[in-house]
Amino acid sequence: MSESICMYNKEYDLAIGPNGSIYKCVSGIGLERFKVSSRDEVMEKPEFFIVRHAKFLGLGKGDHTCPSCRFFPVCGGGCEYNAYVQGCKKDCWQRFHEIALPKMVEILSSIDFVEPDIWVKRSGN
Ligand code: SF4
Repeated sequence: MSESICMYNKEYDLAIGPNGSIYKCVSGIGLERFKVSSRDEVMEKPEFFIVRHAKFLGLGKGDHTCPSCRFFPVCGGGCEYNAYVQGCKKDCWQRFHEIALPKMVEILSSIDFVEPDIWVKRSGN
């Protein structure tokens, strides 16, 4: 179960800016810090793209306390973009996860999946 839509550490997720540049963060489009490559570079030197993308995946997010945090599997170390714009070391989502995860479990245990994007309230609830 993942509540995060963050693409920063996801292997297959990328954002493409209006000029064809490729980023690892939707909010970071236009910022060099979040840029992986450009369209032209992918076409002409795909190996550069692979190496830079691998660096993003390998860097991870958060700090040394995150891997031992109980929320790490869903959080992944907070938001890199928020930490960058706020000028802080990391954007910790611990309080959010403490509140949101039990609610998500409660909601998911009271509904039934019908088909993609269609869920109904479980009978008897
Ligand atoms: S909740 Fe905070 S400490 Fe835990 S993984 Fe996320 S950023 Fe790291």
